[in-house]
Amino acid sequence: MNFYSLNQQAPTVSFKDAVIQGIAPDRGLYFPEHITPLPTSFFENIEDLSNHEIAFLAIRQFVGDEIPEAKLKEIIAEVLDFDFPVVELDENVATLELFHGPTLAFKDVGARFMARCLGEFSAKETNEVTVLVATSGDTGGAVANGFLGVRGVKVVILYPSGKVSDIQEKQLTTLGKNIGALEVDGTFDDCQRMVKTAFLDEELLHKMQLTSANSINVARWLPQLFYFLFAYKQVKSKGKEIVFSIPSGNFGNICAGIMAQKLGMPCHHFIAATNVNNIVPNFMKTGKYEPKPSIATISNAMDVGDPSNFIRIRHLYQDDFETLSKNISSYSFTDEQTKEAMVEIYNDCSYVADPHGAVGYLGLKKYQENHPNTYGIFLETAHPVKFLDIVEDTIRENIDLPEKIAKIMDKKKKATSISSYEELKKYLLSN
Ligand SMILES: *Cc1c(COP(=O)(O)O)cnc(C)c1O
Repeated sequence: MNFYSLNQQAPTVSFKDAVIQGIAPDRGLYFPEHITPLPTSFFENIEDLSNHEIAFLAIRQFVGDEIPEAKLKEIIAEVLDFDFPVVELDENVATLELFHGPTLAFKDVGARFMARCLGEFSAKETNEVTVLVATSGDTGGAVANGFLGVRGVKVVILYPSGKVSDIQEKQLTTLGKNIGALEVDGTFDDCQRMVKTAFLDEELLHKMQLTSANSINVARWLPQLFYFLFAYKQVKSKGKEIVFSIPSGNFGNICAGIMAQKLGMPCHHFIAATNVNNIVPNFMKTGKYEPKPSIATISNAMDVGDPSNFIRIRHLYQDDFETLSKNISSYSFTDEQTKEAMVEIYNDCSYVADPHGAVGYLGLKKYQENHPNTYGIFLETAHPVKFLDIVEDTIRENIDLPEKIAKIMDKKKKATSISSYEELKKYLLSN
């Protein structure tokens, strides 16, 4: 399968090159040339398929023959070695738990899939690939874990000193091997600026193959469509109209859901739920896309002021505002409303939601006010323990540390402190 740049000013490339480059030379996002729906028999018989079979049949067309079938199956089996349960909370409300992976974040699947694709491609190259990422918390842990031990790939993660949670810092700094952590004296924006500078540094690019691991990369974005198919398989027998509510930041996850629908998955509507970073809800009201600086919230993985994947969603609807509005609703919620929702979910359903999941719940409830007969699934994108302080303060209960987390809390942190781009460059060139 070939991929073209949405900016239309760069040549089309293979899946392999799209994965290695991340973004096109004209700074456009890559998009598949064709999307061929799966046969109706796939959806009719989906309950007879394993998750591995579903994933393979869904992603194969995008990968093409650039990874041999047997290898692709092996990658899928490694990536999807945990569950994706739909938990029903009420008659027409359920949550899809995406936090059972190694770092308890939904980004585990995309990060692991991308890591293995890149490992497969770079195994045939003589040059090592260096993955450079800035993280405000969750992405870094998932990427570090996903790439751990992948041959031919080195990972360098920049995080703002003192601004990630203890759990998140441990997840970034205790792995060792091919994963290097740089503790930056500055903010997340400083980290991101340094990464961007590196990607434009000709001297550096001449000496090493640099790539990024954010959701712009097709190998991180596309495998997220599995979630929606796994959910569909679990709730299909209810025979109701299914709607998904997705807590959204960069809009990669929801865009993958719409891809699943394009593949033929019967699904009635999508809800893009955001915190006060309301660029898309505003767009759905006014038709104007106006990026803004991001605002800090308690659902901080969604603090995005210019969601990079929204352009892919617009493209999926040929940028036709009317069809887009028929298929997607978007609502924004404050931290106050998010906390109230966490309490409501806990009191009414005995379920502990994290702040991101709670935003998804709010979006679903709002939509169902006018569409009461739909079966709604909101996505739980992180384990509540990752936002321990907020969750415990809000629902006034203690929650237990899962074993996966308890284990790493005793490990020793290893990070290199830096405070300028020059120090980053020196680190990259000397390691
Ligand atoms: C990244 C993230 C999101 C937002 O996902 P997008 O694909 O960027 O919209 C939501 N919740 C959590 C916990 C995340 O880490």
